[in-house]
Amino acid sequence: MISFKMSEEQRGYIHSVRQLAQQEIAPLALQMDEDSENFNWHYINILARENLIAPIIPVEFGGRGLDYLTIAMIVEEIAAACAGLAAAAVGTMHAVLPLLIGGTAEQKQEFLPGLTSQKPALASFALTEPQGGSDIESNHTIATYMGDRIILNGLKDYVINGAVAQFVTVCAKSNTTGKRAFQFFIVPANKIKVNMIRNTMGIRYVNTAQLAMENVALENRYALGQRDSGYLLLTQTLDIGRTLIAAIEVGIARAAFQLVLDYSRDREQFGRPIFSNQGISFPLASMATSIEAARLMVWRACDLIDKEEDFTQASSMAKMYASEVAQNVTTGAIDIIGAAAYDTGHIANVYFRDAKVCGIVGGTNNIQKMIISSLL
Ligand SMILES: Cc1cc2nc3c(=O)[nH]c(=O)nc-3n(C[C@H](O)[C@H](O)[C@H](O)COP(=O)(O)OP(=O)(O)OC[C@H]3O[C@@H](n4cnc5c(N)ncnc54)[C@H](O)[C@@H]3O)c2cc1C
Repeated sequence: MISFKMSEEQRGYIHSVRQLAQQEIAPLALQMDEDSENFNWHYINILARENLIAPIIPVEFGGRGLDYLTIAMIVEEIAAACAGLAAAAVGTMHAVLPLLIGGTAEQKQEFLPGLTSQKPALASFALTEPQGGSDIESNHTIATYMGDRIILNGLKDYVINGAVAQFVTVCAKSNTTGKRAFQFFIVPANKIKVNMIRNTMGIRYVNTAQLAMENVALENRYALGQRDSGYLLLTQTLDIGRTLIAAIEVGIARAAFQLVLDYSRDREQFGRPIFSNQGISFPLASMATSIEAARLMVWRACDLIDKEEDFTQASSMAKMYASEVAQNVTTGAIDIIGAAAYDTGHIANVYFRDAKVCGIVGGTNNIQKMIISSLL
């Protein structure tokens, strides 16, 4: 039987995270968008206090050990308050995933508890390179194996949390001849050079950086899994990560929708609220419907992950559809609010800019279509 009801536990989580997000995060979202030059740890302190940076981490390593469905619900709440902050948390969870799936107990014990203490800490997942993000075979970052040491060289770009991470989970080529020959490495921040901080259009709160590794020497304990075995780890990480990015997209859409619904009931033209025109209320009806549909797709994909069933197609569908919904709803919000929302200092403008990244990050919509069609 299919249930659309949250459990009591989920209801409790959502209630407390929504309260926290709306009281402590949302009121600062505009300011965080504007003052994004230097990373502001205030938000991260709030999440660390509640152990919400990476609630994916199992209880035995200090985390909350939540299922993916509950995590997606939490991510939606945070994203509805500030998508950039949700991206910082989801970026950290991407960094944790290869470790959770392919790391040894010793590696988990060494690297995970640092992300669960009250001390604010973030991690990064570094796959994309300047020459491209979609075609990972074109990656240049290379691991050279020298006895009990591994030497990493390469550039990684658009890395969320890049300049403020405690460690970066780096995907590198582990063989110059073989196809799909990769390995992941946990690289401590002090071994990585920050080349530049990206000045992004949206999700401006989160730090996004280009990173360089120049003859970074690592002991074997920093390598995840076996040499050349990282491709499976990569696809599993990306498949799961997509559902969390999709939850951010739903959060952005929801926030923009609520804003414009309230606005259209207040704003009067021709002596009555603009909502009383079907030209306004009908698009709002469509927005509300599409947000519900996107959320259900995210929940379904997460439910499949939690039940250890095949979820690859469902996660790509959820990510692609939710990104379209986020972009449509935030564009519609600007249309309905009008001139005021065209100002970069209006929160609707922030939602619009934040939503634009949704069709790019975690694999573009064309890449999602490639995955979905390959599984038809
Ligand atoms: C704000 C932000 C944060 C990010 N955070 C991270 C991060 O933390 N870690 C990380 O590793 N990466 C991150 N990325 C990178 C992101 O994952 C890549 O941008 C994305 O995978 C696309 O890569 P690209 O931008 O190089 O585009 P390209 O791969 O160069 O693609 C360009 C265009 O061609 C299309 N295309 C490519 N191949 C095909 C094909 N076969 N068929 C049809 N169309 C195709 C794409 O859809 C796209 O429209 C981030 C990006 C942004 C903008």
